[in-house]
Order: sequence, then structure tokens, then C-alpha cells
Amino acid sequence: MAVDPEITELARTIEQARRAIVFTGAGISTESGIPDFRSPGGIWTRMAPIDFSDFLASEEARRETWRRRFAMEDTFREARPNRGHRAVAELVRRGKVAAVITQNIDGLHQASGIADDRVVELHGNTTYAHCLDCKTHYDLDALRIAFERDETAPICDECGGYVKTATISFGQAMPGGAMRRAEAETRAADLFIVAGSSLVVYPAAGFPELAKHNGATLVIINREPTGLDAIADLVLNRSIGATLGAAVGID
Ligand code: NAD
Ligand code: ZN
Repeated sequence: MAVDPEITELARTIEQARRAIVFTGAGISTESGIPDFRSPGGIWTRMAPIDFSDFLASEEARRETWRRRFAMEDTFREARPNRGHRAVAELVRRGKVAAVITQNIDGLHQASGIADDRVVELHGNTTYAHCLDCKTHYDLDALRIAFERDETAPICDECGGYVKTATISFGQAMPGGAMRRAEAETRAADLFIVAGSSLVVYPAAGFPELAKHNGATLVIINREPTGLDAIADLVLNRSIGATLGAAVGID
């Protein structure tokens, strides 16, 4: 096989690291069939996101949020980890990667075999729902059956609060525990690898910036240019599965 200098450099950079962090966005899951937001044809070229304040204020906004979520259910349910997720899991298994900080809500890092306590979810998780007030957990299947009867947005059986997927919407407070953990992991890292994020959503995009300012090597793997290419040590405009898979040596 021909030697690919970019892959060789990525492999060497990973080899030299003592404690790496992988930071992922929607781009690592497109090869699993889940569309991202900002690629051409991504979700936001078709519909604007619903702000958290609108979800709280309007039954119609809640109904529309749930309509969109259930329309995506088959996609999320059928998605399986791809070669990129598997390569990241292999680096965790080898002890090279201490934690995965993700903007994704699809649970595919956990499904790839990474322990829950090594996955830091900045934007929550869409595979289950909870009450915004008392945090009672709700399974989506039961909510869907009820919703499809009359399209009433679900209300908590315990306290009457609004039920929402366990994700962070625009305008909603970031999860404090996950933010503190992500910051501590970022500060402890000597290599920070971004895979599949446009790096335009803050505060999430602040972590690669922090890593770089703290002296870590910053690597960005993304098909298109990102907001932080200018400060990165290595930018690979390539697809994630093939790139990470080859650098890590897994199929
Ligand atoms: P984004 O849509 O802003 O950016 C994704 C980037 O990945 C794009 O720049 C695109 O060029 C690149 N990309 C797509 N497929 C790729 C591939 N196979 N190889 C290499 N690069 C690829 O995504 P973001 O930065 O994560 O921000 C969007 C927000 O939306 C996130 O905060 C996340 O919470 C949410 N989101 C999550 C999912 C998911 O969980 N899978 C999907 C869509 C959106
Ligand atoms: Zn409740």
C-alpha cells in the first residue's frame, strides 16, 4: 500500500501523545447515516432550530419539536457506530485517549464500547426523554404511541412539567457537570483531536481553543474548513472513518 504522508503524520502524532482527548461533532456520525446540521443538505438547510424559550412558551413549538424528533426516530434507532467511532474506541481501549468530549446526542460512542464515564456529552442525549422539572425519565417508545394519538406534547405524570428529550437546545443552560469535566480533561491533555465539527457552536468550540492555549497539539479532521483551522497544528480535510481507521490501524 502506498504511504500516505498525512496518515503517517497523524499516526505519529497519536503515538507521541501521553494523554489525548477526542472531541467529536455531528460529522463523525454522518457515516452512520445521521445527517449533520451544516453540511450542504444538512438539517438546517431545511428547517430552523427551535429555541428553548419557544419550547417553554408554546404548545405548538413543543408539538413541532416532538414531531421532528419522532420523524428522526428510525434514523437514530437504526444507526450503528462506524469506522470512526470504532477507531476512537480502540484508542480509549489502548489507554491513549482519556475521554471523548462530544457535541453529539446519538449515543454512538457508548454503543461503540466506550464506558459511559469516559464520554462527556455537552449537548445531552436524544435517545431518551426526561421531565424538565423533576427529571423523571421517559422512554421514547411510550411517548411516541401517546403522541401519535392526538399530537399532544407530553406532560410529566409526576409533576405536570414539560417532557423533552435529554438534549440541550439553543437558549438552554449547558450541563454544569459535563462542562466542568470537559474543561478538566481538556487542561490535562497533550493532544486534542477534533473529528467532525464545524467549530462554530460555543461554548463547545471553546475546548479546542483552550487545549491549544494550554500547550496541547491540536489536530482537526473535517471535510470542510472549520472556525479554528488557523490555530491547528494539523488539519486533515478528509473523511473521518477512513482517516482515523487507517491512522489507528483498524478496519
Ligand atoms: P456541524 O453540522 O456544524 O458540522 C459537522 C462538520 O462535519 C461539517 O463541517 C462537515 O463538513 C463535517 N463532516 C460531515 N461528515 C463528515 C465526514 N464523514 N468526515 C469528515 N467531516 C465530516 O456539527 P457540529 O459541529 O457537531 O454542531 C452541530 C450541533 O448539532 C451539535 O452541537 C450537535 O449537538 C447537534 N447534532 C448532533 C447530531 C448527532 O448526534 N449525530 C447530528 C446533527 C446535529
Ligand atoms: Zn416531572
